[in-house]
Amino acid sequence: MALAYDDTNIFARILRGEIPCDKVAENDHALAFRDINPQAPVHVLVIPKGAYVSLDDFAANASDAEILSFTRLCAQVCTSEGVHLAGGHDGFRAIANAGPHGVQEVPHYHLHILGGRVMGPMLA
Ligand code: 5GP
Repeated sequence: MALAYDDTNIFARILRGEIPCDKVAENDHALAFRDINPQAPVHVLVIPKGAYVSLDDFAANASDAEILSFTRLCAQVCTSEGVHLAGGHDGFRAIANAGPHGVQEVPHYHLHILGGRVMGPMLA
């Protein structure tokens, strides 16, 4: 059963402008901002503006326009943060935690984009 979306979560509050964020980029359907507790020199969260709990919810239920805007914003962030692999930089890691097994803290879909250092082993 799909999780119900809780619009009191912290990213919903950021989207409503109730609390500030360090914005990196934005388009019609997505927002990118810096993680408050960065785990790497580059640690940006990209979120859809729509109410989606997790990657599987977003991928199944978002419109094509939302998915395209989200994906393009990810590319824009990778370029502006200097981790854009196709631009000759050193690359990045993108992570989407989902649900209790994924140890997802904030129940609004977000993609972590991490870069600026060599990452450790992924499977922890
Ligand atoms: P999750 O474990 O859900 O994938 O990651 C949630 C992320 O949100 C964490 O990396 C955490 O540091 C970040 N975070 C939690 N609260 C805030 C906040 O109020 N502002 C920002 N910018 N990031 C937050």
